[in-house]
Amino acid sequence: MTRKIENQNLIIASHNNGKVIEIRDLLSDYNVMISSSEDYGMKEPEENGSTFEENALIKATETSKFCGQVSLSDDSGLCVDALNGEPGIYSARWAGPEKDFLKASKTIEELLIKDGSKNHSAHFVCVLAVCWPDGESRVFKGKIYGDLTFPPQGKLGFGYDPIFIPKNYDITFGQMKPDVKHKISHRSIAFDLFSRELLVEKK
Ligand code: IMP
Repeated sequence: MTRKIENQNLIIASHNNGKVIEIRDLLSDYNVMISSSEDYGMKEPEENGSTFEENALIKATETSKFCGQVSLSDDSGLCVDALNGEPGIYSARWAGPEKDFLKASKTIEELLIKDGSKNHSAHFVCVLAVCWPDGESRVFKGKIYGDLTFPPQGKLGFGYDPIFIPKNYDITFGQMKPDVKHKISHRSIAFDLFSRELLVEKK
């Protein structure tokens, strides 16, 4: 039988307050109490994996060991086909310490121009890892496909949202109302898989 996470703490393995708020929101209908690894005074573990799955598992495993509770991590990024999947797991790092995503988006545009590629197809990936203190773990993955557009359009969302037009739409994530993005995004697909399998709805 699947091991459910019910009526207990779930520690979000993140020091990114925006991410913790978004996850708290996504899980508000389920019977779990949310805290973050920062609330437990934990330092951020080094993300030295070579895939989204490895990095998500590093964060969730370290957090559940440190806090002695079930932990959930989210590792995500943008993969550009003509750039062999880059920036991928380095999506946050391409924006530098100043987290300048307009600069990172410009870098992508310049690399595509240099490459001479007319192919602007790309996808977002979100991998969720859940880890229990006894070492058991599960991974859930969501993807959304689309095309990049330059210059960036829209001021909603975050990160690379203003340059990404999801398939079957004609506006970027940056122009899309959050409730529409949250119905179709890579993150909502991964959260659906996770919550259907491991969570229990509030009565
Ligand atoms: P992480 O915190 O290491 O998982 O970094 C994920 C990075 O991927 C973020 O900083 C964003 O740059 C990018 N990213 C992931 N999901 C999205 C999204 O939904 N919209 C825009 N950018 C995203």
